Amino acid sequence: MTASTRDIEKAAEVLRAGGLVALPTETVYGLGANAEDPAAVSRTFQVKGRPPSHPLIVHIAGAEHLHDWAEDVPATARLLAEHFWPGPLTLVLRRGRRVPLEATGGLETVAVRVPGHPVALALLSAFGGGVTAPSANRFGSVSPTTAEHVRAELGDAVDLVLDGGPCDVGVESTIVDTTGDAPSILRPGGVTREDLEAVLGRPITVPSTSRVRVPGQHPSHYAPRARVVLVEPGKAVAETERAQGLGHRVGVLLPPSLAGAPVAAHAVIPVPASTAAYARGLYGYLRELDRRGCDLIIASLPQEEGLGLAIANRLRRAAGPRPTA
Ligand code: AMP
Ligand code: MG
Repeated sequence: MTASTRDIEKAAEVLRAGGLVALPTETVYGLGANAEDPAAVSRTFQVKGRPPSHPLIVHIAGAEHLHDWAEDVPATARLLAEHFWPGPLTLVLRRGRRVPLEATGGLETVAVRVPGHPVALALLSAFGGGVTAPSANRFGSVSPTTAEHVRAELGDAVDLVLDGGPCDVGVESTIVDTTGDAPSILRPGGVTREDLEAVLGRPITVPSTSRVRVPGQHPSHYAPRARVVLVEPGKAVAETERAQGLGHRVGVLLPPSLAGAPVAAHAVIPVPASTAAYARGLYGYLRELDRRGCDLIIASLPQEEGLGLAIANRLRRAAGPRPTA
């Protein structure tokens, strides 16, 4: 059930009192804290099990508040904010006076976003300040895209969960660094590279890690319990049946090109042909395959254009090497 005005007022109170509020955004659910309260911000790191050197994104109610949270905002950043806020775009800027170093992992830069979800915006307005909000899941695991995912994973560690329904975008924001000579994409996400380039009127660089075709090079993140293996789309059925034959409980994210193909697997989730629908569903599919007891997930990378770039980035990270603790 979507949060009421009363729930939102209560959540703002929790933030003022130094508590943690899980909030819906259009990308994924966030674990919110008062950005100006170092103790509350530190608690988000503890609850997530995230190293405190990993900087957080500060969420604000509108671009008009930007001067409180960032210094020397370049014209490029203003242009992008004007086009894409509220929305799934995060800008890295020089740290402003209201941002404590706890929120930036000690950096003199800060990541800022105006989220495009009515409940998030209502909370930010009611609260009146900035809210740090990493994804509301344990460090390294699959991001939550429903309030139920948050409750299942974090339970009592969060003081209040605001329900805003399933997230519309389903993958995290695109992070653009505007502190260098030319803007660059640090993480592909809900705003596509093509849309950024159309507004900027020039090409924008994307990190090479997201373009490497070799799997297993990046430490795992966005990862379900089941091991994730990436295969060429044309081999998804054969590889699934081979692994199933070896005794694995295989879940397959069946590529659109193989829609309707019979496949002997423990669980089959057909991937939608639309990348927007795929991005919206992706984290839910991974959670579903875990829930169904799969120990291996076979998936294929979509074309790396539009939202396909962000989906491929998350799948590669999900397939990355696991820590051997
Ligand atoms: P998450 O909270 O999981 O959506 O991730 C936030 C991401 O934003 C971090 O993993 C960083 O990569 C990025 N980020 C946040 N602040 C900065 C910053 N000041 N400079 C560069 N990247 C940042
Ligand atoms: Mg995260």
